[in-house]
Amino acid sequence: MVSLLGKTLEELQAVALEAGLPRFAGKQLAEWIYVKRAKSLDEMTNISLKGREALKQKYTIGRHEPVAKAESEDGTKKYLFKTPPVPLSKGERGSESQFIEAVYIPEEDRATLCVSTQAGCKMGCKFCMTGTLGFHGHLPAAEILNQIFSIPESEKLTNIVYMGEGEPMDNIEEVMRSLEAMTAKWGCQWSPHRITVSSVGYPKGLKRFLDESECHLATSLHNPFAIERQQIMPIEKNHPIEGVLELIRGYDWTRQRRLSFEYICFGGQNDTPKHAKELLRLLRGLNCRVNLIRFHAGVDQPFQGSDEQQMIWLRDYLTAHGLTTTIRRSRGEDILAACGMLVNALQKEQ
Ligand code: SF4
Repeated sequence: MVSLLGKTLEELQAVALEAGLPRFAGKQLAEWIYVKRAKSLDEMTNISLKGREALKQKYTIGRHEPVAKAESEDGTKKYLFKTPPVPLSKGERGSESQFIEAVYIPEEDRATLCVSTQAGCKMGCKFCMTGTLGFHGHLPAAEILNQIFSIPESEKLTNIVYMGEGEPMDNIEEVMRSLEAMTAKWGCQWSPHRITVSSVGYPKGLKRFLDESECHLATSLHNPFAIERQQIMPIEKNHPIEGVLELIRGYDWTRQRRLSFEYICFGGQNDTPKHAKELLRLLRGLNCRVNLIRFHAGVDQPFQGSDEQQMIWLRDYLTAHGLTTTIRRSRGEDILAACGMLVNALQKEQ
């Protein structure tokens, strides 16, 4: 069965014609899927019974509920989804089902969902528990959107961050499809400024994202020195951050679109005055924000988080020198839902 979730208006119009329906039924399908958020074709009462039966021969909506949930003391909830078989290479048919996670983070004035774009990840960042799992497949747009649509708090969401499992720019085709469905007039009609997509700096996908979307960008920096960055982020070897920044500098960050840099603080390894000065040099002239993140040591990880005082010093130093810097509050640590901790027992067993 093929999922309708994740299809564009044009594709839905083609689906309608294929099912013997008029072309305008494509718009009705889009409305049922993205606005009314129908879970089954039977709900689509303005589409003829015959048309719905024809659609059912090949299509489903593609919605499915999470299979498990863990709730943190601070209200953060981690949802586990079982995907249909997902492909290991683009254009391939999927071979195996995977478990993926999405994290719901409620705050006073907002409710954010952190979604996964791949099962596992190829990038192998040394500090990241997801990275240690290896790569298990690209998520189709339907599976990215299903995380947003199928959590119980879906209607409450005010923001979405693409910061879960995977490197979004390595699955750019499906990520762009999901962003289009979320922001298009025929789709969910969200402002792109409510969505942030993260990247370690994978230039090919990043360029397309910057060209074709207005969503915010969060770049994972974590160290301003190439040699040191490469030791914790293998991507630095083939795609140095200096080159990624050159690409980023070619876009307009003075309007509503936001640029931020994520910086996990490792005690003594990237939080010293030498690192602070190099950060200022590297990001000079960019209209951006740096988010300092406390490191959450996972099992078997040879890293230590910075202490609170050092993070405060780093924040104040960078801010005093004109680089807006904040310390991001950590959420969901007790359920392994915080940054770099998206891993689950089921995946580990595979
Ligand atoms: Fe992949 Fe992000 Fe983890 Fe790096 S930090 S291994 S890009 S999920």
